[in-house]
Amino acid sequence: MSAKILDGKGTAQAIRAEIKEDVDKFIAETGVQPTLAVVLVGEDPASQVYVRNKETACVKAGMRSLMYRLPATTTNEELVALIEKLNRDETVHGILVQLPLPKGLDEKRILDLIDPHKDVDAFHPENVGLISQGRPRFLPCTPYGIQQLLVRYQIETAGKRVVVIGRSDIVGKPMAALMIQKGLGGDATVTVCHSRTVNLAQVAREADILIAAIGKPEFVTADMVKPGAVVVDVGMNRVERELVNEQGNLEKVSKLVGDVDFEKVKDVASWITPVPGGVGPLTVTMLLNNTLKAARLLVKAR
Ligand code: NAP
Repeated sequence: MSAKILDGKGTAQAIRAEIKEDVDKFIAETGVQPTLAVVLVGEDPASQVYVRNKETACVKAGMRSLMYRLPATTTNEELVALIEKLNRDETVHGILVQLPLPKGLDEKRILDLIDPHKDVDAFHPENVGLISQGRPRFLPCTPYGIQQLLVRYQIETAGKRVVVIGRSDIVGKPMAALMIQKGLGGDATVTVCHSRTVNLAQVAREADILIAAIGKPEFVTADMVKPGAVVVDVGMNRVERELVNEQGNLEKVSKLVGDVDFEKVKDVASWITPVPGGVGPLTVTMLLNNTLKAARLLVKAR
């Protein structure tokens, strides 16, 4: 068996086109341009790429993107002052602080300070609580994108056994929270695994839908996957590989790989997301979705 590809890139493009249409309509009706403020502290190269992608995606969707690039020497008080200013600014609808913050900055304090109505990452305790109660304001971008991908490929989740590997606040926990909710893309029976799980391979093999969010290159091997399972790979890991170049010499090349051993697992699974081109593009797409929703909510509340 060779698995079919869950094309995250194509799905993201389709959703972004829908969002662009909705943004155009919203601007025509209200005169308000949805605006996302992105705060980047420090020089982390990966964060710089992520932030640039978010900025470009915003502009392409017809939204306004405000970039705040601060030096790594920024203090907690300076960052607090910026977040409070953005909270007060009526022309800003979404606020995103790119993680990780440099050492010395209090991540929890900063994230908790973001107005929950502008919290387009859905990290604020108020938004996490609403998700848990099944009445979300915003859904966290990566799990939301994965749920959309499954729904758009008409992959049944109701009654299915879902195993999520990873229990981070950003991916694993909210992924599980979404899959147990009632309704489309939910109603699953969910197990969450982590580094203390005993017999992880055995638990993973029980999954109809296996979602890997571990941060360990090619951790999920073919023997951990039930034949015919759907496999979603959230991992994004930079590794160095030795490849033979055109001159026949060995060359070290930097490569992006997921948490799943794609080449082997694709022979066992029924559907699989590639890396890159799987979950990644959907994360940014759902951020656009949340920014438009934030603008709608703030305009309605006025
Ligand atoms: P994280 O905060 O480091 O969490 C990793 C989770 O994996 C933890 O819960 C950890 O367990 C678990 N884990 C680690 N080693 C394990 C092992 N040997 N066996 C079982 N569980 C293990 O990572 P994250 O932020 O969730 O991200 C996970 C991956 O997804 C990373 O590669 C990240 O780059 C990627 N990511 C991609 C996107 C996207 O848009 N595509 C978005 C976010 C993240 P403990 O809790 O017990 O330590």
